[in-house]
Amino acid sequence: YDDRDGKIWMDGKLIDWRAANVHILSHALHYASSVFEGERAYNGRIFKSREHSERLHFSAGELDFQIPWTVDEIEAAKQEVLTANGLTDGYVRAVAWRGAGEDMGVASARNPVHLVIAAWEWGAYYGDAKTRGARLDISKWKRPSPETIPVHAKAAGLYMICTTSKHVAEAKGCSDALFMDYRGYVAEATGANIFFVKDGEVHTPLPDCFLNGLTRQTVIGMLKDRQIKVHERHIMPEEMEGFEQCWLTGTAAEVTPVGQIGDYNFEVGALTREIAEGYEKLVRS
Ligand code: PMP
Repeated sequence: YDDRDGKIWMDGKLIDWRAANVHILSHALHYASSVFEGERAYNGRIFKSREHSERLHFSAGELDFQIPWTVDEIEAAKQEVLTANGLTDGYVRAVAWRGAGEDMGVASARNPVHLVIAAWEWGAYYGDAKTRGARLDISKWKRPSPETIPVHAKAAGLYMICTTSKHVAEAKGCSDALFMDYRGYVAEATGANIFFVKDGEVHTPLPDCFLNGLTRQTVIGMLKDRQIKVHERHIMPEEMEGFEQCWLTGTAAEVTPVGQIGDYNFEVGALTREIAEGYEKLVRS
């Protein structure tokens, strides 16, 4: 993705895509002092744009740094990036990090904070699994306790086990991996939250040690609008045996049906389809 035409917003200016570089001694590269957002624009408008910018600020705070741009400035910058790249529909990536500076050790209070916003076209995150139903592997790694790491930040360090889990999953022909948490409860996929359906009611893990996704919150709202009961609770992996339908939610994933997790099978049922289609309509309305 580095060698292409286009414009990237970096520290207040639109610059050429190929010129958006960082120094090799950037603190973030060594110690994961980096937070980011994944957003999608539909018909020229970023869905939940402000919430994403606010979450970026929150994540930075969790890592003890402050983004030197206000939410309003970030909002304007994102629109500038979409326009400069001629995009009405696309994925928007904002990333903020501790750069290179005085500090080369673990502490980084004297190093500058940078912010970059890029955007590009990105189709269905799980490819044709979006209609067929994704197959998920179960990761050997666990989502950590909130006493271990700031679990509600969208921070680079939390993705280390996502990458390795997804590599293992893809080597098995799966689309993604599902994490259990440190207590053994069902948690989330590597970049998406999870929902299950049983007897016309919906069950989804309580986000007490992972990201409470904006898409997750949107989908819960959609279900409640339809008078469908939603149970946000701790879910044991064995319960997956009795669940009939399953889907993933995320900005990139949107609403993606799941057909299989390990040895558990799910149908791509009517409610899954309704919520997937309803979400598509909502983001474009
Ligand atoms: N969990 C993880 C680990 C993620 O990376 C994402 C994507 N940001 C989500 C959940 C879903 O969050 P959202 O709906 O806000 O995109």
